[in-house]
Amino acid sequence: MYFSELAETFEKMEKTSSRLELTDYLVHVLKRSTIQTIDKIIYLIQGKLGPDYQSKELGVAERVVIKSLALASGYSVKDIQIKYNKSGDLGDVAYDLLKNKFQTTLSYEKLTIEKVYETLIKISKVSGAGSIDLKLKYINSLLNNSTNLESKFILKLILGNLRLGIADFTILDAISISFTGEKKNRKILERAYNVSSDLGNIARLLFGGSLNEVESIPISLFIPVRPMLAERASDANDALKKMSGKICYAEYKIDGERIQIHKSDKKIELFTRSLENVTNNFSDIVNEFKKINTKDLIAEGEIVSIDIQTGKFLPFQSLMHRRRKYKIDEAIKDYPVILNLFDLLFYDNEDKTNLPFFKRRRILEEIISFENEKIKLITQTKVTEIEELDKFMVKAIEEGCEGLMLKNSESPYRAGAREWAWIKLKKEYSNKLLDTLDLAIVGAAHGKGRRVGNYGAFLLAAYEPEEDTFFTICKVGTGFTDEILEEISKRLKQHVIKNKHPRVNSGELKIDVWFEPKLVIEIFSPEITLSPLYTTSINRIKKGYGLALRFPKFTGKIRDDKNAEDSTTITEIENIYKKQLKSI
Ligand code: ATP
Repeated sequence: MYFSELAETFEKMEKTSSRLELTDYLVHVLKRSTIQTIDKIIYLIQGKLGPDYQSKELGVAERVVIKSLALASGYSVKDIQIKYNKSGDLGDVAYDLLKNKFQTTLSYEKLTIEKVYETLIKISKVSGAGSIDLKLKYINSLLNNSTNLESKFILKLILGNLRLGIADFTILDAISISFTGEKKNRKILERAYNVSSDLGNIARLLFGGSLNEVESIPISLFIPVRPMLAERASDANDALKKMSGKICYAEYKIDGERIQIHKSDKKIELFTRSLENVTNNFSDIVNEFKKINTKDLIAEGEIVSIDIQTGKFLPFQSLMHRRRKYKIDEAIKDYPVILNLFDLLFYDNEDKTNLPFFKRRRILEEIISFENEKIKLITQTKVTEIEELDKFMVKAIEEGCEGLMLKNSESPYRAGAREWAWIKLKKEYSNKLLDTLDLAIVGAAHGKGRRVGNYGAFLLAAYEPEEDTFFTICKVGTGFTDEILEEISKRLKQHVIKNKHPRVNSGELKIDVWFEPKLVIEIFSPEITLSPLYTTSINRIKKGYGLALRFPKFTGKIRDDKNAEDSTTITEIENIYKKQLKSI
């Protein structure tokens, strides 16, 4: 299949602001694909070269792309830089500069999708001395054989700024419609995605095989499973009620980063909840885990920074020092961490997710049966009475925890699902204040007064997975120091889009700048109110009204561990609102 077809589809997708149209374009291109190209098309649509957990980065600097564009177009580097400064996108610059290219080019080889994909893979593998020249050579081999439209998208792919406005759930819809004829089979595909985290592979299996095959995709080592999530309760009473008399365990809830550890005979790898491979960042944990004599496994836990002097847990922010790309060894020394395991998904070559929680924990206890300084089991206790839960909460808070997790003892591990089998209880609840929410930044207003020249307030949105859409919930301008505002603004620059994103529903509301939903920040608000302005839960509680946060305030936490699609959901917000009504 020729790359030109994909480029034309990308062009149409870039221009639409309707999610239904996006899905239609996707279905059209997927139906025209072949078994050789289907997975590659899916990855390219995601602006990637493979599933998230393989994170093949192209690592091409802008100046290399500018140089190759100079070679392909005949314009000088300086000219291109000027045009780039104006437009802000080298793909768009290439589109303009290469408009008349084929009037002067005598022969060229029409690019296939395979050729583009393979060349991008080659670029991602180049390293060491001479790598810049080699990357230039590969990029030019593509540009010399492409039209200006193809060049535009090749450069966007290379620089990682293809913004089609498409996310996993929309792609799942399109795969389901294309190869099963019905959207309703998305549920089956979703389960496969939750255990295998690879949309390209699911599409290929479905294209070449059957729905049954996809249905039985197993959990496998070194392929991260999408994590099971928790619902929230307003207080201990509410949490126990939700467990409706079932045996349950309360566990410390630590404010660190969730890690999935995969271990075979020879290898250990660590993944975050957004499926990023962070093995290199936590080599101290890997080395410690190697000392544990155990069979193959996949386990989950929370990595947390600790104060070396007191042994107490430190807040999430100190852990972020461990996520840097350079000088990792120094960070390992300066910011010690421990891993607190709380679940087991796979052991001794067997999927354990269908075992009840207490049995999974028992196996974990057998594996981690000795004192280890860095690898521990999360502190846990069986609870039946409110008093026990309250007492355990006090102890947890004293030790630096965020609160407790209440877990149904009989529950299986349900990958990617948010259910009442796990309930989070945070200390903030005890003051009857609302919990923090993690919201995606979808727009911004220009700053005034002190903030002239910067953003003044951000438009935030919650997520609705069924519709794969972001709904607005508030504007926030408080809680930002100058430094953090600067940082957020800098990071948002790469996500600026000309019009509202197709997966954002903002009703009538207008704002100065729109962003692709990427950056997630943590917000505290004491109350949720009905609002005619925002679209969260629009018409679901009261006709003509949505829900909004009253007095929202940024807590200082940028949620780098979350994708926009991991933002707080509309359903969670509705639940908080309903509870709030009851407590009045
Ligand atoms: P969510 O995971 O619900 O989307 P979030 O990332 O903001 O939201 P919280 O709402 O604070 O996190 O709680 C869930 C997270 O708590 C888990 O994803 C995990 O990282 C962490 N956690 C800490 N302790 C535990 C525990 N004992 N069991 C499960 N998760 C825990």
